[in-house]
Amino acid sequence: MSQTRIAFVDLVALLKPIFLRYGTSEEVAQILAINCALCERDGATSHGIFRMRGYVDSLSTGWVDGKAIPVIEDVAPAFLRVDARNGFAQPALAMARDVLVEKTLKNGIALLAIRHSHHLSALWPDLEPFAEQGFLALSMVNSFACTVPHGGHSAVFGTNPIAFAVPTASGTPLVFDMATSSMANGDVQIAARENRLLPEGSGLDDAGLPTQDPKKILNGGALLPFGGHKGSSISMMVELLGAALTGGHYSFEFDWSGHAGAATPHTGQLIILINAKHSGGAPFGHRAEVLVDQMKSAGVTRLPGEHRHRTRLETDRNGIPITPEELAGLSQL
Ligand code: NDP
Repeated sequence: MSQTRIAFVDLVALLKPIFLRYGTSEEVAQILAINCALCERDGATSHGIFRMRGYVDSLSTGWVDGKAIPVIEDVAPAFLRVDARNGFAQPALAMARDVLVEKTLKNGIALLAIRHSHHLSALWPDLEPFAEQGFLALSMVNSFACTVPHGGHSAVFGTNPIAFAVPTASGTPLVFDMATSSMANGDVQIAARENRLLPEGSGLDDAGLPTQDPKKILNGGALLPFGGHKGSSISMMVELLGAALTGGHYSFEFDWSGHAGAATPHTGQLIILINAKHSGGAPFGHRAEVLVDQMKSAGVTRLPGEHRHRTRLETDRNGIPITPEELAGLSQL
């Protein structure tokens, strides 16, 4: 059957009651429904509708508190902590956002350390609005142990994404957002569902041998970090900043075995904001364009974030594609 198209607001309206039905507050439902619809709108489908089952299972097994009220701790002039109290990270960020911006404007730089939080989405929706406001933004989230550190034999790290967004003179932020594992877990799941093999170097099977079979990686195997020892060190940094600094769990530290189906890692998120106005020399946005132009002159035809932004232009015009299977899955939930 062919796909249909749905407007962004209609998709939010379709998703929000599902969150409410499985026990979130009105505010949390609104934030997560928008977040999920943003991913689908931008073609980041590994964190769109596909994730609804994970949200629902995490909520219905009592693994995550969909009504948690985060607590803000103002610990230093440029250091803000939030205890998400076993709720989702995005509502914690929403609550702390204004204070974080205020601190960044005052100090030139500020950081937000969210702990006891669950993040099941992409990071760019958290950062892009900051870059649109003129800030450089960096974020990291650790997840659940499914990635073997370089030289090791068992999973310690999560897929540990890192994202960075900066303003440019053109007005469209330059953004990258990537797992520090060879690939994101959602993409491994999608490949398993579609019976597709993964690229070489993606992961190991349960005997520690290299495999391209996503099912073997998911069933007792593990992912590898991207870029060998270098990616492994970056993933280690994400653990330290996402967990040790925030006060959250390391990816290997929580036990969700009593919550079958739960999909939201119980970890932490760090966000660092820098006011671009304080850059030296020419305005930061112009300097960013100089770099972009040079990359394009060097033959680069796709910048990070560009594919999403192009998809967004198309879906804003024509609606977000949704398959009958996806619609049926949502109505089931
Ligand atoms: P990808 O490898 O698909 O993309 C990583 C980045 O590289 C993106 O910014 C992307 O831009 C860019 N990019 C991709 N292909 C190219 C190319 N050919 N040339 C130039 N730039 C390119 O991402 P991952 O699979 O590593 O991660 C996917 C998502 O999963 C991320 O959003 C991440 O935050 C999320 N994630 C979330 C976790 C969590 O616990 N919450 C855990 C792990 C991952 P573009 O977006 O435009 O394609």
